[in-house]
This record gives sequence, structure tokens and C-alpha cells, in this order.
Amino acid sequence: MKFDIAVIKGDGIGPEIVTEAMKVLEETGRLYGHSFTFTQCLAGGCAIDQEGMPLPRETVDVCRKSHSVLLGAVGGPKWDDQPGHLRAEKAILGLRSEMGLIANLRPALMFDSLADACPLKPEFVRGGLDVLIVRELTGGIYFGERGRKQTPDMGEMAYDVMPYSEKEIERIGRVAFEMAGKRNGKVTSVDKSNVLETSRLWRSVMHRLKEEYPEIEYSDLFVDNAAMQLVINPKQFDVIVTENMFGDILSDEASMITGSIGMLPSASLGEGSLGLYEPIHGSAPDIAGKGLANPLATILSAAMMLRYSLNLPEEADCIENAVNRVLKEGQRTADIAKPGETVLSTSQMGDMVVKALSKN
Ligand code: NAD
Repeated sequence: MKFDIAVIKGDGIGPEIVTEAMKVLEETGRLYGHSFTFTQCLAGGCAIDQEGMPLPRETVDVCRKSHSVLLGAVGGPKWDDQPGHLRAEKAILGLRSEMGLIANLRPALMFDSLADACPLKPEFVRGGLDVLIVRELTGGIYFGERGRKQTPDMGEMAYDVMPYSEKEIERIGRVAFEMAGKRNGKVTSVDKSNVLETSRLWRSVMHRLKEEYPEIEYSDLFVDNAAMQLVINPKQFDVIVTENMFGDILSDEASMITGSIGMLPSASLGEGSLGLYEPIHGSAPDIAGKGLANPLATILSAAMMLRYSLNLPEEADCIENAVNRVLKEGQRTADIAKPGETVLSTSQMGDMVVKALSKN
């Protein structure tokens, strides 16, 4: 099969890590008889430098016409002083809205061979960890009305409104139930319905939805309890679904349980098959251009792309197994190496994964 992939390498370590993911995709295509046509587009700081804006129209057009989008990372100190609408990170928010992406999927997957990197006691994560956080991406407090006003006697006041509609809740709920059906059949919906009206609506929509998925084991959890449960008993979770801000916070917490920021992929999906796939980390300006970046999060993002946008689960498994094999063999980039261990460069790690693909 033939696939058109829009590629946004971005800034900092972006070009280095995306190059490795492209190598892995090409080799996977060769092994399974698919061809990937990559169209490189500008976004972020490099787009500000070359086009005067973080998200050029042409990039949006190419992304929308492609089967999927692979992104490295954007931003860096060079562009930090730009006015709000010209900041490099605006490219990500712009892409999410232009591509109609409503769900952010962040698996927190702990590889057995990296168990030492987990900050929790070994007994809490024995046997590995595999949690998927499904975060609502386009609603809630990040997109609600906001402002400031003077009060007569309390000084200046600021407010951010957290609106949610039934439709927004239902469509993210469906993503979670469908994902759980393909995994271990459990959904935990996280809200704050003891306090927030949006959460009460959230919970009632989720309860309506769970009737449509009787095969899925469903439970509710308050967000403060969820934050606690993630560190004392993370293995109880399969899929966690939650609104935008709670998901922002909980997904960082969950991903850190696995130990290394350089290992974690993410997918942002809309209602069709088009998706945006990127590592959860940023552009790491402190190590950019030095060959020190771990490309595995981006390579695993490419695997998610095969699974969720291109419907190639076997090929996705092949990449994930190759990463697992390379880690089991003890291959390490600097961020996941223990003192004294041999350290691979970004491209050497990419080459190892490419080689391991054909051993599956
Ligand atoms: P960061 O994730 O870039 O880096 C945090 C730390 O993790 C750094 O020490 C870095 O060296 C390390 N690190 C990150 N990725 C790594 C990898 N693959 N291998 C090895 N080490 C890795 O976060 P930050 O420093 O807060 O942000 C840097 C820039 O990235 C900022 O401009 C920020 O706005 C931007 N950012 C972009 C995205 C995105 O493009 N989606 C996300 C987060 C941050």
C-alpha cells in the first residue's frame, strides 16, 4: 500500500529524532511491501525564521491532505521572546485545531528492561505497566472564555471558564471505550463531579455511554484520587479518559512513572483516520545537534501512526517489538544508560532498531 506522510521535523532535536523514525518507517515498508512518501513541512521556530509565522498555510494544507503527520518538536529559547501569536508552540495548537484533532492518546508503557528507571518502588510496578491516557483536546478551560476585570474592593480579578458540551464529552468517551475494547477492556473516567458542574455533565454522559459498551468494565474516579492512585497502584488502570486540563496534568504524571521522557510517544486523533504523532518531549535545546537525543519516543510514535491512522497493526507491533528487543540487548542512549554503560548516538540507536525489525 502507498501512504503520504507529512513530516514536520521542527526545532532543536526534532530533525535528528524524526530522521531516525523515517528510517524505521522506510525499512518497515520494505519488509511489508508498503511505500511511504514523506513531504517535509515547516512549523515552529524554523517556520518563524523562514516564513515569518509558526504555522504556514502550506503546512496545514499538506498535513490535511496526507494520510498522517509525524512531528518532532518545536520551540526553543531563540523564539521565547516572540509575542504570543508568534510563539513557536502556537504551531501545535494551530495544527490540532486545523486538523480537527479531539483526542490525545498517551500510552505510559514501561519496558521491563527499563524498570530501574521507574521512580516507584518495584513492587508497585512488578510485571510492567501499560496505561493509556485519553485526554480531551479541544474543549474545557484551555479554550473557554477568559479575561480580567477590576473589582471595586478586591483589586484585579482574572477568570477562565471551563465549558463542555454533551457532544464533546460523548466523542472523547467513545474514543476511550473503543480503545479499551482493543486493549484490556477497562475504562476509568476521571472528573471532579463533587465540585464542578462540567464534571457532573461529564459523568452523566459517560454513564449513558457505558450502557452501549457492556463488555467494558467501567469506573469513575475523582481527579485528586486519580493522581494518588497513579503512584500507589498504577497497574489497576487500562484506559483513563478525562477532560483537557486534568488530562494534561495526569498524563505527565503517568508518563514519568515509566522513567524516561525520551521513550514516550503520543497520538492526537480526530474523528476520521488522520492523526498527528509526536513524542511527548519538547525540542531539548540543551542537547540539540550533539547526537545525544533518544529517538525511541519518535520511533514509537511512528508505530502508533501505523496502528491508529494507517490500520497496520502487525507493522506497528513489529516496530514495538524491535524497540523492545534493542532495549533487552542492553542498547542505550545517554538518557537511559546507567553509569558505565556504553552509550549509543541518536543515529546508532535508529540503526539498531532498523536492524532489529527483520529479526521479528
Ligand atoms: P524538553 O522535553 O525539551 O526537555 C526536558 C529535558 O529532557 C531536557 O533536559 C532534555 O535534554 C531532555 N530530553 C527531552 N527529550 C529528550 C530525548 N528525546 N532524549 C534525551 N533527552 C531528552 O522540555 P523543555 O526543556 O521544557 O522545553 C524545550 C522547548 O521545547 C521549549 O521551547 C518548549 O516550549 C518546547 N516544547 C515543545 C513541545 C512540542 O513540540 N510538542 C512539547 C514540550 C515542550
